[in-house]
Amino acid sequence: MKTIGLIGGMSAESTTVYYQLINRLVRERLGGLHSAQIALWSLDFAPIAELQGMDDWAATGRVLADAARRLEGAGADTVLICANTMHLNYAEVAAATSKPVIHIADATAEALKARGVTKALLLATRFTMEKPFYSERLAAQGIATITPPKADRDRLHAIIYDELVVGVITEASRTAVLAMIDEAKATGCDGIIFGCTEIGLLLDVAAMPLATVDTAVAHCEAAVDFALA
Ligand code: GLU
Repeated sequence: MKTIGLIGGMSAESTTVYYQLINRLVRERLGGLHSAQIALWSLDFAPIAELQGMDDWAATGRVLADAARRLEGAGADTVLICANTMHLNYAEVAAATSKPVIHIADATAEALKARGVTKALLLATRFTMEKPFYSERLAAQGIATITPPKADRDRLHAIIYDELVVGVITEASRTAVLAMIDEAKATGCDGIIFGCTEIGLLLDVAAMPLATVDTAVAHCEAAVDFALA
């Protein structure tokens, strides 16, 4: 089995999901007492979030590249950035390691295609919804995306940063995001992307009114496919 390297802490709430899910998937596939070989470099999210707020993606890139080098040094055979937003620094991370870096949007595109989705509502941080890096990567693989209107994007961004990344789950936020989904459904999209690795903590994929991909889950599945190939 190969070793999966995780750049975590963005946030710690969703890195916990990665750790649990990757181990569970390996146990399900191999049986018995098997679990995953994981190297985790978990970052302090406060300085990262501060740099994000300053739009200083060169500085976040240096932090993530350093993490990738540490993981390769620890024996990782692949590196995952355990967040969608920080794939803004995918190029810097990929350049810092000789190991393959599994892109979360590629894993997501595969999962969407398997469900027959061609046009999906992207629910994510403002960075992921508004900067082109994410939607363009999906578009290159045949997946069109739409986002909620500006006021809803701001609300969702606040829900992620003020609540989900610090482990706060509220019924009011759940209702608000479900309303965004209902509105988007009326405009004719055929799928939903939980494009932030914490959204699965708020909403249940199985209860969604359209085919839905949780990016954290798709990313973990791709990592386990790689580790066990
Ligand atoms: N985990 C989040 C994501 O998937 C948001 C936190 C961050 O900005 O890294 O984008």
